[in-house]
Amino acid sequence: MDIKENYNTIKNQLLEGVELVAVSKTHPVSAIQEVYDLGQKVFGENKVQELMEKYPLLPKDIQWHLIGHLQTNKVKYIAEFIDTIQSADSEKIVLEINKEAGKHNRTIKVLLQVKIATEDSKFGLEITEAKDLFQRYINGEFSHVEITGLMGMATFTEDKEQVKREFLTLKKVFDELNQLKKLDTLSMGMSDDFPIAIECGANSVRVGSAIFGRRDYSK
Ligand SMILES: *Cc1c(COP(=O)(O)O)cnc(C)c1O
Repeated sequence: MDIKENYNTIKNQLLEGVELVAVSKTHPVSAIQEVYDLGQKVFGENKVQELMEKYPLLPKDIQWHLIGHLQTNKVKYIAEFIDTIQSADSEKIVLEINKEAGKHNRTIKVLLQVKIATEDSKFGLEITEAKDLFQRYINGEFSHVEITGLMGMATFTEDKEQVKREFLTLKKVFDELNQLKKLDTLSMGMSDDFPIAIECGANSVRVGSAIFGRRDYSK
């Protein structure tokens, strides 16, 4: 598995203006450094513990994105350095991020994670909840949080039409909210479905295994 070749292949498939978040979870610091050396600056991790172990060992200009469900009691560990939390999936977590960012006198970028998969996915806001939270944000309730967009994961299925429908659902919500206040980021698509996501309007994709190879969870 040649990381450099994988990385270049993915980069070549991305339209101009589509951001790549390289999802490095379970992969060693050496692999992340290799991709960084190819020019990649944005990396995604899904566990706070793992991110905290890797963070001190890697260049400080990496923009770290948290992409996994975040427990409120762990926000404090990443509040000082996290660039974007893509997985804001409850009112509680937005309030906590706001509080911890305030302690460090900074603003943390947040994507509202919306439940679009029909499968029984545990995490994500209902569309109405996301709209409510965004309205409260517009009203100035969260001064240390910048809601820059939305994140969604499609159902894990071979049915491309279903995946497309789910992505288009989120695109519609994105367009609606974008009318109320300008948004930057629609994060949809992973290794298996990012071309569909881009077709449906994603301007940020989260790609892991297609760059780093398969994840080994036994280690
Ligand atoms: C692991 C993960 C990805 C990347 O998955 P791949 O299939 O390896 O590209 C993207 N988004 C989230 C939320 C993830 O947890």
